Amino acid sequence: MKRYFILSLLFVSIMVTNITAQENADIFKFAVGSFEVITLSEGQQKSGSSILIDATSEMIDKYAPDGTFPSACNAFLLKTPDKTILIDAGFGRNLFENLKSQNVTAEEVDIVLLTHMHGDHIGGLLHNGKIAFPNAQLYIAQLEHDYWMNIDSRRGEQAQNVIKAYKDKFQLFAPVDLQNSTNELLSGISAIAAYGHTPGHTAYLLKSENSQFLIWGDLTHAMAIQMPHPEIAVTYDVNPEDAVMARKKILEYVAKNRIPVAGMHIAFPAMGNVTEGANGGYKFTAIKN
Ligand SMILES: [Zn+2]
Repeated sequence: MKRYFILSLLFVSIMVTNITAQENADIFKFAVGSFEVITLSEGQQKSGSSILIDATSEMIDKYAPDGTFPSACNAFLLKTPDKTILIDAGFGRNLFENLKSQNVTAEEVDIVLLTHMHGDHIGGLLHNGKIAFPNAQLYIAQLEHDYWMNIDSRRGEQAQNVIKAYKDKFQLFAPVDLQNSTNELLSGISAIAAYGHTPGHTAYLLKSENSQFLIWGDLTHAMAIQMPHPEIAVTYDVNPEDAVMARKKILEYVAKNRIPVAGMHIAFPAMGNVTEGANGGYKFTAIKN
C-alpha cells in the first residue's frame, strides 16, 4: 500500500510541475493560540472537471485548462493543551504512519470529530472491521448520523459499519449557525452547520487565545474553480443548492473576519487565507512554512 502510494506520488509530482519539493509532504503544522493543527495528507491528486455542475467552458478554460485541477485528501490532527483530537480519518491510507510521525498512537486519540460520513473521511476509523481508535469518542451531527442510518445499505454500508462498531462511543450534536459560534461543542471548538454537501455536513471553528481557525471539511472540492465561482457545485454534493449557499455564507464570514481555513480536499498544505475577489468570488492564499 505504502509502495503504491509512493509510486503514485511520484507520478503526480511528474504530472504537476509546479509542486515544490517538500521534506515531508505528508505533514504541515500551524499554531492557533495554544492549539496546534496538523495536516495529515492522505495523498495529492488531480481531479477532472466532469465533477463540476454547470461550469461554463470559459471557467474551465480559465481555471482548469487541461480539464483537471489540483485536489487532495486530508485529515487533521488537533492538539489542545489537554486533548488529542482527530478531525476526520481520511481513507486510512497514510493516517497511522502520519500519526506515528507525530508521536501519537491510535490509543492516545481522545476524540474524533467528523465533518460527514463519506468514505474518504471515515475510512481510517475501522481496521480489519475493528475500531481503530479504542479510547476515542466520535462526534457527529445528529442529522448526519440519521441520514446514513436511513439510507439504503448498499450506499450506506461503510457508514453503518462504523456506527455499529463504535456504538455507544458516538456523541450526537446539533451544529450551530456561524452567528452563534460562541456556543461551544467542546472547549474552544464550535460545530458549525455547513449543510448541503451531505445533510449534516459540519465545519469546526477553533478558538484559542485570540486566534480563530476554521476546518471546513468538504465545503470545496475544486478550489481552483469554487473560490472564484462559489456558485459551482460538484456531483458529490447531496444537495447542490444548499452546498452553494453554505459555501457562500462561510466564505463571506471567513474573508470578513480574516479567519484562516483548512479543508479536506485542498492541495497541500491544505491551509490558507480567504480574501474577497472579483464579482462575488474569493481568493485563496496558501499558508507557507
Ligand atoms: Zn464528502
